[in-house]
Amino acid sequence: MSAVPVEPLDDLRAYAAAASGCTRCRLAEGRTQVVFGAGNPRADLMFVGEAPGFHEDKQGVPFVGQAGKLLEKLLGGVGLRREDVYIANVLKCRPPGNRDPQPDEIEACEPHLFRQIELIEPRVIATLGNFATKLLSGRPLGITRVHGQEQELTIAGRNVLLYPLYHPAAALYTPAMLKVLEADFVRLPELMGAAAPVPVAAVPEPEPEPAVAAPAEQLGLF
Ligand code: URA
Repeated sequence: MSAVPVEPLDDLRAYAAAASGCTRCRLAEGRTQVVFGAGNPRADLMFVGEAPGFHEDKQGVPFVGQAGKLLEKLLGGVGLRREDVYIANVLKCRPPGNRDPQPDEIEACEPHLFRQIELIEPRVIATLGNFATKLLSGRPLGITRVHGQEQELTIAGRNVLLYPLYHPAAALYTPAMLKVLEADFVRLPELMGAAAPVPVAAVPEPEPEPAVAAPAEQLGLF
């Protein structure tokens, strides 16, 4: 009997199922459910936000509130739909009262995000806001300084283009920030095209056939 090949999608599903019972940090106590991530498991573009809010915690899906509506609108503006991309967060559980993620919570949750990246293999990762940007860039520079500046990095063992963006929740009530976010979004299709293609196993070029049958000696066989 031949073995059924394990698809990356199955791996992601299995990982999400395992993570649904996560108790790695205190946020397990107050959550309704783990909000693992959603979208195309083979997406070239992955968004990483901060943490689930009230609606995300209830529905189990990231970015379904007001910030999510804006994210969908911005995606639409560059010809993408939610289903084309993968959306996740730094934290998979809602912090009480939507407070900022704590350093120990980020550290505890990090393996989930890195495994997601490993399994999805995105070419571009757009970080939304400070927490995702600082975590994935490994640098302390804030989003105001680095938004819109792509950076080639190795994350979870893969070459990716990291593209920091303002968080849609911040842009909701600050028109100037929304303008910047829209302008940064416009570059996403270009960046997806420019990101290094997934390497294909090298196939050696076939040797050209000799035009005339040559003696074995001339072909260098002896
Ligand atoms: N803000 C986030 O960072 N993530 C969500 O899922 C919702 C709002």
